[in-house]
Formats: sequence, structure tokens, C-alpha cells
Amino acid sequence: MEWYEKWMRQHNMAYDKKHRDFYAEPSIEFIEPFKIADDLYYVGDRLVCIHLIRTDEGLILLDAGYPCTRHLLMTSILRLGFQPKDVKWIILTHAHFDHYGAANEFRRLFGTKVAMSIADTQSMRELPSRATRGPDYNFRMPVIDREIADGEIFSFGGKEIRCVLTPGHTLGVMSFFFNVTDQGKTYLAGLYGGAGINALKLPYLLYHKLPLDMAQRMVASLDCVKAEPVVVHLGNHPYNNHTLEKREKQLKEGGNPFIDPESWPSFVEDIRQKSLKVAEENAELEKQYL
Ligand SMILES: [Zn+2]
Repeated sequence: MEWYEKWMRQHNMAYDKKHRDFYAEPSIEFIEPFKIADDLYYVGDRLVCIHLIRTDEGLILLDAGYPCTRHLLMTSILRLGFQPKDVKWIILTHAHFDHYGAANEFRRLFGTKVAMSIADTQSMRELPSRATRGPDYNFRMPVIDREIADGEIFSFGGKEIRCVLTPGHTLGVMSFFFNVTDQGKTYLAGLYGGAGINALKLPYLLYHKLPLDMAQRMVASLDCVKAEPVVVHLGNHPYNNHTLEKREKQLKEGGNPFIDPESWPSFVEDIRQKSLKVAEENAELEKQYL
């Protein structure tokens, strides 16, 4: 076994150990769904974000959680007073199983259509193990109805979502920007589609047959979107934008902590620094192993 295969095995074992209770009883990570702004709701859990957008023609989901949390997602939609059958589109940030989990089931049960970037759709088809997860888990790839290009405006039911390719975490991460209103004011909402830095590390890249400069690509992507005037920063995982802390604050103090112009730039700078550090570590490893 190659050194990077051993690294990957340990990485996956640690991931599974950390998630063992969650896989068995996903509702331990459930949180009540809530409103972030007009027509924008949180329907994710404590581990991974899912956002719901209400439009004139039905509902859009940004991402679809883990495969094991499909019932939590449907519960959240129902508790907000919406119907899962009204989800017309699921737009995926990237091709990883913790984000597209419910996509195929919504497609089959409700006729929901699924969209993802051209780049991640191709990458997933080229090597399904990049998107799915290990031989122990029979996670299927999502069926993609629409492939989105960089810069495309996804228009549906009067909502316009600008889709920007921000590769790094995967080859085809899509970040989303769209206007929301709250108390009569309009703000730009922004969701950076994939910020996990473990996927930038050299052994991960070798194992998944990815280009070895993904950390540098992440830095370039962050530079490309850092000046976006995002006021409502949405997470891909709750730790990206402190979703859970903001929700706690909202419950305790009222107001809307999601309206926060500092959140986006500080997140971008943090991930940028972390990506640069991984790029340095990768250079050292390359000297040692390659
Ligand atoms: Zn991911």
C-alpha cells in the first residue's frame, strides 16, 4: 500500500469514528429549521448546511445533506409549513456525498430536478470515488439534470442565483450569490460552496487522482470572490459562518445576526491562510515522496 493510501485509510477511519453515532441515529444532529431572511430558510442540521429558497414557482434547495439525513430534511421542510413535493430544484455546491445525499430520493419521489457544475459532474463521472465514499458505503452518485457553467445565472420563479466556479475543495465547487430582503432592505447573500481544507492535502489529491495544485486553486478562487459585498454569509458547513452560534443569538436576543458584513471577509481570509499553509506542507511532502 502506498503512503497516501494509508493516510487516506486513517483519514476515513477517523471520519467514520467521529460520525458513528450520527450514522446510526442522525436525529442527534437535528436542529429546528429557521428563517434567515425573507424567502430564505435553514433546513440543514448541526453538521452540514442546507438552505431553502422560496420562489413564485416552488422551492429551491441549496444542497441536500448526507444520505442518512433525508428524513430530517423532509421533517424540516414540513415543520416550516412547506411541502417536499414543492422542491423543484436542488442546486449542489459540489460532488461530495455529505451535500448531495437526498438528491436522488427527491428526484424519484417528487420529480425534483438536480443541478451541479459542469466541472464536478465531469469529475464525478470520471472517478465516482471522488464523490461517493468507500466500499463500506453504498452511496450512489446523484443524477444531474442540469450542468451549470461558471458565471451562469440560475433563474427560477423570479429568483436569480449567480453561480461562480470556485475550485479547490473539488474541481467544480460552485459558490452562489443572490439578493435577499429583510425588514424591507435588500442584501447580497453569499455561499462559498466548499471550504474543507483536508481535500487540498497531497495524499488526498494523489489518492483521488486530482491535480496537485488544488490548494493554489483554492487561494485563487478565494481571491476571485473576496470582494463580493456579501452581507448574509451562508455556510456550506455550519462552522463556516457560525450558523449555530448566530441562531442561538437570534433566539436569545432577537434581531438578525445573519446580517453581518464582517462574516464573509473574515471567513475568506481564514480559509485563504489555511489553504496557503496546506500549499506549503504539500511542497514539503512533494520533496519527500515524489
Ligand atoms: Zn466536500
